Amino acid sequence: MLIKNSQDEVKKRESSFKIIKSILNEKGRRDLYDLTGLSGGFIASENDLNLLETYVGPAIFEEELETLGKEHLGGEKVLAVNRTSSGILATILSLVCENSYIIHYLPEFPAHPSITRSAKLIGANYIEFDNLDDFHIPENTSLIIITGSTMDHKVIDEDIFKEVINRAKMRKIPVFVDDASGARLRTILFNQKKAIDLGADLVVTSTDKLMFGPRGGLMAGKKELINKIKSKAHQFGLEAQPPSILAMVNGLKSFNGENIKNSIEKKQELINLLNNKSSGTLGNVFEETPTGVMISEESLKNELKSHRLLDNISSKDCCFLLAMNLLKNEGIITIPAVSMPGASPTIRFDLSSHDCEKLKMETLADKIFNSFNSFLEIVNDYDKSEELLFS
Ligand SMILES: *Cc1c(COP(=O)(O)O)cnc(C)c1O
Repeated sequence: MLIKNSQDEVKKRESSFKIIKSILNEKGRRDLYDLTGLSGGFIASENDLNLLETYVGPAIFEEELETLGKEHLGGEKVLAVNRTSSGILATILSLVCENSYIIHYLPEFPAHPSITRSAKLIGANYIEFDNLDDFHIPENTSLIIITGSTMDHKVIDEDIFKEVINRAKMRKIPVFVDDASGARLRTILFNQKKAIDLGADLVVTSTDKLMFGPRGGLMAGKKELINKIKSKAHQFGLEAQPPSILAMVNGLKSFNGENIKNSIEKKQELINLLNNKSSGTLGNVFEETPTGVMISEESLKNELKSHRLLDNISSKDCCFLLAMNLLKNEGIITIPAVSMPGASPTIRFDLSSHDCEKLKMETLADKIFNSFNSFLEIVNDYDKSEELLFS
């Protein structure tokens, strides 16, 4: 295996950053296409930046965020955290005690690793379900988590969402929704209600997923619970810092969901192109997502069945290698090339991304095919593959 552990994932991420830097230096920003759907946007005026001091900034921006955050998510009170993962950790540290149960409903496995890791950290029993037939709430359950949309953008059915909340309410157990991308995907493309309006007590969303904000987490919900979590977040340094809060405010102000809606048409065009071009060679490797297409670990593995693969290259390695080819040869940034340890290896092309505006679907389809071919050329050479991932 090329990627054996979290440290290897960090090394891979560092080498991707070197490649990004060299493309920037040699060709410029125009030749980089960030299609992750995570923008890391930072909109700020000169005036905003002048207010960025440790205690002055928050006095202004936190108040604005309170209003905008409630509009976006609902709820009685808002809390800005460093990442969605930080919000998940702070919530579990605040509401869950050792040996009690955390019950998680999600539309499709796997859960985001921050949920399972936080559960483990506090010594809770963790059970997850992806169907309502098996779903049950044991005695001594302290928190119910619902994922609105998974890392691969599989969206929950709204009726199931309501049913899980109903069952939690009957037992008077707080419900926390991981709506990292769902707060926008569910509401804009699937016409679902906000998590809080469906009865959830708490929600967290990622301010750089499908919106032009910074990597960060925005939480909202019942005042009493948010106060508890806020205090815990401050104790462990999990809260968002003033520059992030400023960028969250401006990201929310500029958000209108148009990019998300426009991605539907682009997706259809791309799928037609991919089908026409592949005519047998790439078969069914592509799957639709709400705002684009993806190549999952499973479908890449199936696609490669007819190729002779080395024993010491895993199917996850293949995803990383393909993502690295996309980056190095075509300037396309996808999540596996730059992700944090434990994130999904799925290669997702998010057509609601900012950079999609400068990319014709015809060009994108060509870039995907070219990368696939160069990937096939090196995947049977362990040394070359290793060099590509960790150079
Ligand atoms: C992205 C994501 C997270 C974590 O977001 P970070 O910004 O990486 O902390 C958590 N849950 C889901 C479902 C996600 O998609």
